[in-house]
Amino acid sequence: MRQNKTWNQHVVKKENKSLVLEEIIENSPISRADIASSTGLNKGTVSSLVNELLDEKLINESGPGKSSGGRRPVMLLFNQVAGYSIGIDLGVNYILGILTDLKGNICSEKKVSFNKLTYEEMVEELYEIIDALVASTPSSPYGIVGIGIGVPGIVDKDKKILLAPNLNWRNVDLKGILQEKYNIPVIIENEANAGAYGEKKFGVGKNHNNIVYVSVGIGIGVGLILNGNLYSGNNGFSGELGHMTIEVNGTKCSCGNQGCWELYASEKSLLLDAKRSDLQNTEDFSLETIIDRANSGESDSIHLFEKTGKYLGVGINNIINIFNPEQVIIGNRMAEAEKWIRKPLIDWIKNQTLWFSQKDLKVDFSNLLTHSTALGVAAFSAEDFLYHNIYNDDISVI
Ligand SMILES: [Zn+2]
Repeated sequence: MRQNKTWNQHVVKKENKSLVLEEIIENSPISRADIASSTGLNKGTVSSLVNELLDEKLINESGPGKSSGGRRPVMLLFNQVAGYSIGIDLGVNYILGILTDLKGNICSEKKVSFNKLTYEEMVEELYEIIDALVASTPSSPYGIVGIGIGVPGIVDKDKKILLAPNLNWRNVDLKGILQEKYNIPVIIENEANAGAYGEKKFGVGKNHNNIVYVSVGIGIGVGLILNGNLYSGNNGFSGELGHMTIEVNGTKCSCGNQGCWELYASEKSLLLDAKRSDLQNTEDFSLETIIDRANSGESDSIHLFEKTGKYLGVGINNIINIFNPEQVIIGNRMAEAEKWIRKPLIDWIKNQTLWFSQKDLKVDFSNLLTHSTALGVAAFSAEDFLYHNIYNDDISVI
């Protein structure tokens, strides 16, 4: 058998099997006949591919479904607990890790926050989080199918981290290090790209196809969904909009430029301003304490958020004029301050953005809380497993 199949037959079969699996994932419970009619594959092909998926425990059969008469068909269900995926959002001042099933439902999570860690300390924290998630994984046919990590930096096509200015990392091969330690496929992605995907798949972006996702944490990153797909640029570097210049004579940025957007509209700038405005107070500021202060009516803190909201509006206005999106999503940690930044941000856009670009434009805040990136990278790993890796190939390629 092995040698008789050609490469082309193999590819076609793989594609058809992905198609059948995708149909079951999206529309389960579904019958074999319905899969045949919606995919255009003939019933025999569907039947044999379904049998393979059943053998591989990726799908289950359930009791009969509805029928308009005659024999009721057996329905097929996606076995979303055939394996699990780990998604990590590696922030500058936190690491959030989640364990999801193959459909993106969160089964367990772990988070640590800190102020500043060296690369070695950060990797140690990362190992601890991954170890805890691995230990919490229920038993399943495939176990953990992949680890996805969203990082606040520039990731090249080989998934090496070229530069993460706020972490002070250069040329880091985190993928290689983790794959060697855990012997599980690892995906590294820019956190804003992963967040944009998380929002498109699970969040407020579900029904939109042209989305600008603005991830506002210590830095600012932007992920773009264009025509329904994640756009990552020619070499994977798109979305470094936190480093677009908004003040020509502005302060120097760790990226080498000056007057970068993220120096005026991020958590980093908010914390700096808070420190400057309250010199007597030696307490450690955090985004959360400033939100608490604003909520208790303290005007200084409210002003700090008004400034952040306005400067977010300045950058977002520029981005809207470039891309004419249908939706802008504000995500990551700063989305927790929606109550205070929404109005100044929207006011800026209303007053400054070209009127025709405002037509049909929605500005939303993430409703995945701070989980967009972790969910996005967990989904990348799960999909990589489901659609590219699993098939018990009956020919060896090459
Ligand atoms: Zn910069």
